[in-house]
Amino acid sequence: MVTPSTESPKILDPNADSHPTPPGTTRWTIEDSEELYRIRGWGEPYFSINAAGHVTVSPKGDRGGSLDLYELVTALKQRNLSLPILIRFSDILEDRIERLSACFSKAIARYKYNGVYQGVFPVKCNQQRHLIEDLVRFGKPHQFGLEAGSKPELLIALATLDNDGSLLICNGYKDRDYVETAMLARRLGKTPLIVLEQADEVELVIAASRQLGIEPLLGVRAKLSTKGEGRWGISAGDRAKFGLTIPEILHTVNRLKAEGMLHCLQLLHYHIGSQISSIAVIKEAIREASQIYVELAKLGADMKYLDVGGGLGVDYDGSKTNFYASKNYNMQNYANDVVAEVKEACQERQVAMPTLISESGRAIASHQSVLVFDVLGSSDAATALPAAATADEHLIIRNLYETYQSIRPENYQEMYHDATQFKDEAISLFTFGYLSLSDRARAEQLYWSCCKKILVIVRQQDYVPDDLEALEQIMASIYYINLSVFQSAPDSWAIDQLFPIMPIHRLDEEPTQRGTLADLTCDSDGKIDHFIDLRDVKSVLELHPLQAGEPYFLGMFLGGAYQEIMGNLHNLFGDTNAVHIQLTPKGYRIEHVVKGDTMTEVLGYVQYDAEDLIESIRRQTEQSLNENRISLEESQLLLQHYERSLGQYTYLVS
Ligand SMILES: *Cc1c(COP(=O)(O)O)cnc(C)c1O
Repeated sequence: MVTPSTESPKILDPNADSHPTPPGTTRWTIEDSEELYRIRGWGEPYFSINAAGHVTVSPKGDRGGSLDLYELVTALKQRNLSLPILIRFSDILEDRIERLSACFSKAIARYKYNGVYQGVFPVKCNQQRHLIEDLVRFGKPHQFGLEAGSKPELLIALATLDNDGSLLICNGYKDRDYVETAMLARRLGKTPLIVLEQADEVELVIAASRQLGIEPLLGVRAKLSTKGEGRWGISAGDRAKFGLTIPEILHTVNRLKAEGMLHCLQLLHYHIGSQISSIAVIKEAIREASQIYVELAKLGADMKYLDVGGGLGVDYDGSKTNFYASKNYNMQNYANDVVAEVKEACQERQVAMPTLISESGRAIASHQSVLVFDVLGSSDAATALPAAATADEHLIIRNLYETYQSIRPENYQEMYHDATQFKDEAISLFTFGYLSLSDRARAEQLYWSCCKKILVIVRQQDYVPDDLEALEQIMASIYYINLSVFQSAPDSWAIDQLFPIMPIHRLDEEPTQRGTLADLTCDSDGKIDHFIDLRDVKSVLELHPLQAGEPYFLGMFLGGAYQEIMGNLHNLFGDTNAVHIQLTPKGYRIEHVVKGDTMTEVLGYVQYDAEDLIESIRRQTEQSLNENRISLEESQLLLQHYERSLGQYTYLVS
């Protein structure tokens, strides 16, 4: 059940048909929008609403400076950058790194921890060059490094990471090339830590080290008995796929010892899954890992680093709970728990406190990008007020109209059942030839009008009867969006992940419509019909009625991690336009523009050559010209359209 929560509940007139509140009767404020879209919950300190009713971005968080997102989008459109557009705020990225480092510094000071924190960014979260380059640059003051989970990511990390002292964590499946490349990187003054994740990798490392005459820096990834929770903890199956069991770790220690290489083993790593919603799980994991760490030190390994992996969550719905789209702790709680648990375990066993590493990807990269897209149109179940039934209309239509007129707060549930029954009867009558097509249309329209009137009453109830719960969804408008969910929000489609979505303007105006979003693809899965809510999830989003000739822009937030690279080319909708924005004392600067794919580019991915395609159309028009089936002008126009399209954006241009 969806109700905009406002301080004084609005009294809605069930007979006001086209708008739940006739515009102008109640003043909707930006505070109402703030509460409705929960922007403070998930957006602080980066996103808020200004007096003009537009979303504003404060890329430096609490440190001042902001810009109006709606005006920014308008300015970008004037520069011929069409929607959908992905806007990256480099300052947010910088702020996230600083925040995480500051939380650990604070925890280290508070618990008098005898060691430092050196984070790394897992490249797999977002491999885009400009972003990784920014990250390395912003990471310098904090000795922030990179984590690679594959060979291509290792190549990125090696070439990009130029900060002396920053760590390069080498995870993932490894072959001899991977291991040798990482070892040779030591000669460049880098600090590559090769993490053994599979039982046989120790032999690979021993052999490569012998041959190259280079001593590697080694780590082991432990399979903890602590289970990750929630979506990613289970579905990623991390525990099953990667890491060494305790017997395998002991075997690795023995092998290294036998080869006189035990001093190379310096790091313990674990990763129990992404988006860990519960602080209890985080605590349990760090406690278990700390014990393994001190044991390894006692066994004679030269332990220096404890790497707690990823999992630091993002509060997508702003509820601050252990719901899968949220987390019941903040960054400082996280840092405190890691620092305190490791300190306690080390102190107890008189082991030197390690350098702490986290591989936080989602928590670093999610906030920095905003996807803005436009609505192309909408469809509603019912709009106009129904005309009164006349005496010569079919009985079923007269019954439906009478039902419509009788709907009151006292009888709405009964009236709903009556209307449904009459509508079903009307369809039967039609099927058996007793009702004309126009009669059936009239019956259906009356039914939708009944539903709409009932819905207004339902929205005012504290308790919604079960049989009426689906009404909101049935009656929702469909907003057609200029976007491919498969390209831009793949996790929304694949694993039902929630991202905050809201209009970026008109927020001083009541959103009187309820809608779901349908994308451009010809796939019925190409839709968004679950949205963040304080409790659980809601199936419709509050939206504004479209105004003729006026654009309507929606923003999808917190999608900066994982979405870009996992997006796919379903229906050949390609990468969206992307820009990098940096705040300046006077406003902002567009640092990079990365144009989205053209049709020629996406066709190239599936091995079509633009020249060949044009040639094929040219030959066909030539033949039609010969057979007098097309005029010269038409053939020119067709070729022009075809050629021009090839160089254009794959999305609709409005
Ligand atoms: C994916 C991954 C991460 C990143 O996890 P987040 O939850 O996004 O911080 C870190 N480490 C490893 C080994 C991973 O596979």
